[in-house]
Amino acid sequence: MIEIYNIRPPDIIIVDLLHVADARGKIRSPGMLVAGTNGHAVDYVCALLAGIHPLAVSTIRAAVDEGMLQPDTVDIDGPFKPLSGFTMPVWFPFRTTIVEHVGRLLYRLWLRRKPVVDKTRCTHCLACDHVCPSNAIHNGDINYPACIKCYCCLEVCPTQAITARL
Ligand code: SF4
Ligand code: SF4
Repeated sequence: MIEIYNIRPPDIIIVDLLHVADARGKIRSPGMLVAGTNGHAVDYVCALLAGIHPLAVSTIRAAVDEGMLQPDTVDIDGPFKPLSGFTMPVWFPFRTTIVEHVGRLLYRLWLRRKPVVDKTRCTHCLACDHVCPSNAIHNGDINYPACIKCYCCLEVCPTQAITARL
């Protein structure tokens, strides 16, 4: 990813944090934008906002190791308020085939919630149709085999008709 980024670094990076969904599908509304001209620095700030140590993120650590980011030079201009209790995906500090299989199973059983539409709150605005990256939702009906559980639909639904459930 670092090498791809370096082929043509963007002139500016803007991260929309008006509404965000965590790993459990819980929606928060920080009402923030994070913007910068160094994508690694923007990632660094987003990690801090999520309440995780930036160097625990492999791409940020690689950028530091490659000399593309000096953490002590990251300058935050504007209000900074970390999100409390932001749930990150399950992460294992070491990987073996068995750990990966067990982790995936636990993830499916306990954490992987699916979006569910409350039809009584749906106004058929189609915002979810337009945002869904896998074209899995149409007018409030979800094709679950196609859904990748990204929760983008939860973020954009203006009536909070979609929730993440086990
Ligand atoms: S975004 Fe919400 S209100 Fe709009 S169509 Fe989808 S479920 Fe219905
Ligand atoms: S969770 Fe993501 S993939 Fe699934 S229906 Fe919503 S927007 Fe589409």
